[in-house]
Amino acid sequence: AAILQVERLSKKYSDGTAALSDVSFELEPGEFAAVIGLSGAGKSTLLRCINRLVEPTGGDVSFGGVRSAKASAHEVRLLRRQMGMIFQGYNLIQRVSVLRNVLHGRLGYVGPVRGALGLFSKQDVEEAKSILKRLGLEQQTYKRADELSGGQQQRVGIARALCQRPKLILADEPIASLDPVTAKIIMDNLHRICREDGIACIVNLHQVEVAKTYATRIIGMRKGKMVFDGRPEDLTDRM
Ligand code: ADP
Ligand code: ADP
Repeated sequence: AAILQVERLSKKYSDGTAALSDVSFELEPGEFAAVIGLSGAGKSTLLRCINRLVEPTGGDVSFGGVRSAKASAHEVRLLRRQMGMIFQGYNLIQRVSVLRNVLHGRLGYVGPVRGALGLFSKQDVEEAKSILKRLGLEQQTYKRADELSGGQQQRVGIARALCQRPKLILADEPIASLDPVTAKIIMDNLHRICREDGIACIVNLHQVEVAKTYATRIIGMRKGKMVFDGRPEDLTDRM
């Protein structure tokens, strides 16, 4: 059964911009999908409507059988907790340790920083450390986030998402700020982690070639509409 069902999802921002129009698709558990499209196509809005960082104006999302349009605020928080989010700008708390940033995932954190970091159990800390090890960041565990390179910061972003024990990872242009060599390291890590843990992933990318390299499923967006949904090998040059 599908883990995620997106049904006729639409978003019109208050200024009248139709960022998303009638988008429907389903995602199987463990599936690795890439959303491609030019800047402004609606990729980011799509991911943010899926985890309710943005309130859709039409349609619905079902995740693990729960329909989010009818969900209470509490249920929305529970849904969001199962979806790890990775950002173009990493969104780390710059002045605290890498470990603290990763543990923040345990709180089901997404979106802008709001202060308090909370207390964590010994098991939580051990799990966060082992996640950092899996991402090759053992040496960085006690460094401050702002001491890290961009590529390292994004690996912390992946680690934080993983610390949520997510069923789905939503990655919004995770490599757009990185050079090609570092971008490859990030995509390799993200792809490997999702495969090893059976986590489904939707990654927004604007480079078609990168999408084809990693994804088994491509969703093409243009002007808020889905214009392609299929295998990479069926993608034509003209989108
Ligand atoms: P992408 O991620 O593909 O670049 P976005 O989802 O960011 O696309 O944007 C889709 C459209 O919605 C664009 O025209 C963008 O300018 C507009 N948009 C995005 N966020 C907002 C917002 N908060 N208010 C108004 N318009 C927005
Ligand atoms: P830069 O410092 O240039 O931004 P990165 O910090 O992204 O580059 O990482 C570069 C180094 O980290 C490379 O040597 C790469 O092989 C290593 N690396 C990346 N991911 C892992 C991993 N999961 N395990 C071990 N080493 C890794």
